[in-house]
Amino acid sequence: MELDLRAELAVLGVRSAPPLRRKAGAGPSDDGHWSVGGSSNAATLPIVADSPFELLEGGVLTRDGVVIEDALLEPIMRPRFYDLTTDDGIPFEQLARLHGTDVLATTVVQTCIRYTEESSRCRFCTIEQSLRAGATTQVKFPQQLAQVAKAAVELDGVRQVVMTTGTSNGVDRGAKHLAKCVEAILEAVPGLPIQIQIEPPLDLEWIQVLKDAGATAIGIHVESLDQAVRERWTPGKATVPLSRYDAAWLEAVRVFGRNRVSTYLLVGLGEDPDELVAGAERLIGMGVYPFVVPYRPLEGSLAHADGVPAPDPLTLTRVTRRVATALKAAGMRGADQGAGCAACGACSALCGEGG
Ligand code: SF4
Repeated sequence: MELDLRAELAVLGVRSAPPLRRKAGAGPSDDGHWSVGGSSNAATLPIVADSPFELLEGGVLTRDGVVIEDALLEPIMRPRFYDLTTDDGIPFEQLARLHGTDVLATTVVQTCIRYTEESSRCRFCTIEQSLRAGATTQVKFPQQLAQVAKAAVELDGVRQVVMTTGTSNGVDRGAKHLAKCVEAILEAVPGLPIQIQIEPPLDLEWIQVLKDAGATAIGIHVESLDQAVRERWTPGKATVPLSRYDAAWLEAVRVFGRNRVSTYLLVGLGEDPDELVAGAERLIGMGVYPFVVPYRPLEGSLAHADGVPAPDPLTLTRVTRRVATALKAAGMRGADQGAGCAACGACSALCGEGG
């Protein structure tokens, strides 16, 4: 799919009722999930009632009622593991979700020290909304996730796991629980690639603990490299200085290796596009994959309540193209992360551009 079209779809969304969609949760996306042209490449797109794009029967895409040639989007069907429950009666669907075509994703702790007060909450995030709606549990226990992962691999062909967490107030920032979850999943499904996502631990030795537990890759997500933007959009996380992120990324590259570490960079938070690209290039030089995604106004988030719109598609296209070029020049492909959002690629247009 052409980058211009992919960027427009990511920002303007589609009119559709996809079978696979999560409502609210951690991070910047609660989109519907499709596979692009029936391939293993996935795309997550916002569902927008007045989008000019509409998906018809059979995955045919139209714009203002006109069919767009060669742009087939096939819905990803509800996986079979959603119908199972744990021994103590919790539906698997409440513990982990299918993302894209073959990713099992979960938020192991669904509460976050940053979310408690509006003054410290990330303005795009809805991590506790799904908990309040009763769609998930506050803590996912290692043995529960091991059961879910085994079923998801055996019944639905899941090939990697992404585990994020709300930030805890311990020095590990949630790493201890993540490490236990990694170990339990690998005991149930040896060799399954797993990415963990975490704020920089106060004690960086936790990064080694996560690697020793068996994690394949790590995401340490900053969202923006512009301190003024951070203070507006992620005021709680902005109290962690960028120098601390640099230290965590460097340690993570030392422990996990080059291109096994990633971060989200959001387009549409008001950052200068040239500075965003320059920052992404600096990260690439460090061996860190900058996963460039558009800001999405999620219902339930502070930014949505303020009416902050998604970025314009042209800016997203230009930034994505330049970052993809830098990634290609450095020989860094998302797929080579082994696991994680960059390996999945569904929320970004980077992998379609070879990044
Ligand atoms: S890129 Fe990350 S958040 Fe998006 S669908 Fe893939 S695993 Fe989920």
